[in-house]
Amino acid sequence: MIGVVKIGGAIGNALEPLMEELASRTTTEHWVLVHGASGVTDELCRVCNVEPRYVTSPSGYRSRYVGEVERAIFEAASYSFSAHCATLLAMKGTPAVPLRPDVAGTAFAKRKESLRVVSEGRQMILRGNYSGTVTRVDPKVVLKLLGKGCIPILPPLAMDEAGGVPLDVDGDRLGAAVAGALGSQVLVILSNVPGLLRDPSDPNSLIAEATSGDWDELESCAEGNMKRKLLACKEALDAGVPHVILADSRLSRPLSAALSGGGTHIWRTRPSMTQTG
Ligand code: ADP
Repeated sequence: MIGVVKIGGAIGNALEPLMEELASRTTTEHWVLVHGASGVTDELCRVCNVEPRYVTSPSGYRSRYVGEVERAIFEAASYSFSAHCATLLAMKGTPAVPLRPDVAGTAFAKRKESLRVVSEGRQMILRGNYSGTVTRVDPKVVLKLLGKGCIPILPPLAMDEAGGVPLDVDGDRLGAAVAGALGSQVLVILSNVPGLLRDPSDPNSLIAEATSGDWDELESCAEGNMKRKLLACKEALDAGVPHVILADSRLSRPLSAALSGGGTHIWRTRPSMTQTG
């Protein structure tokens, strides 16, 4: 079985417990690690005296504006996060290889040079942006590493299809594209919340299970960053991944907890129920 797990980069996500689990699971299973980089990017921006800029699209998606300087900071922050994960795994005896998109040729994206944003109720266009939308994933190198018992680590970067530098891409959507390209059985998106909550302010309102057919209802619960996470789930299911889990990274065994029923489980089609009676 091949699984893809994505860990959020926001402050509040726990990294150590997942690395511990990946190290022990990799003896019998194949796992690919995709990560975000928002927290470490904000930290590096602060050190560099660059104010992080967030914008909201007319359809309500919040994203980072990535100018030339922000792009370089995002790239450096992403590689430092990848190296941190690889070091933690190596210390547990598991080889892991961070994949730079410009060297490994794994992920490609279409640049969004201009962003339509809403500011104080008015729409405007911001140019010179270096983020993009993942267009394709080439799984060759990832499969080669999995075959050698290594954990491939993918930072939230992808090469500009038109040539040039690595672009900032959304880690959840990259995870979805990777899971689709590998024919993964499961995509697990770990974050700093228990899963998709019916009411984002109530941690006890977890939606435990859903299928693609419940989409409108799921979308109506999501705000802010969760909107994009749900979009990633939909992209994974559309790419043929049968099962996506949104779960909590802050547990002692986050992956096992997710795989044994924790978090929000979204199925492409509902698995057949066990016959009773
Ligand atoms: P990460 O960096 O860990 O991937 P994000 O900040 O991108 O995490 O997304 C998780 C955030 O989504 C939560 O911290 C929460 O504030 C927000 N959110 C919005 N709507 C919901 C919801 N319905 N259920 C859970 N979280 C939600």
